[in-house]
Amino acid sequence: MKSRALGIIEAFLDAHRWRAHAPVGAAGALPVNVYFLETGSCEGCAMELEALCGGGYALEQAGFRRVHRAEDADWLLVTGTISRRCAERLDQVWRAMPAGRCLIAIGRCAIDGGPFGKSYATLGGLSGLTRVQRAVHGCPPEPRAILAALIGFRDGITS
Ligand code: SF4
Repeated sequence: MKSRALGIIEAFLDAHRWRAHAPVGAAGALPVNVYFLETGSCEGCAMELEALCGGGYALEQAGFRRVHRAEDADWLLVTGTISRRCAERLDQVWRAMPAGRCLIAIGRCAIDGGPFGKSYATLGGLSGLTRVQRAVHGCPPEPRAILAALIGFRDGITS
């Protein structure tokens, strides 16, 4: 019998609910609303995202706004491997986001599970569960590198 976490993730992967990147955040447009979700790891990448929101990195000046409700988010930034405990939350957040939502993996764990791999406690990284449209590599990636990648994704410079 399938585990509940796996069933949830299969729903998350439903291709019919997947949407391509929306053309939000182009020059002169509204800011891109980003929602952070940590799904289970050492939290190093999550801390780098928190640092990115500090005064030293000018996230908002670059055209991004952190939001705390999935309903307000354009982009979902996931840090950490997908622990079974957090799989349901990941699915809830994804479902709550409006049309045009995009998924971005931040750091190695979110991409492929990193040192946590796949186990009784984790489903591994997003790449084993779905097509990761955008990813920022590193363990962890620095805030400056994350910001540069986000700008590149938004402006279509990098994919
Ligand atoms: S990629 Fe590295 S820093 Fe980021 S959550 Fe995983 S182990 Fe921690």
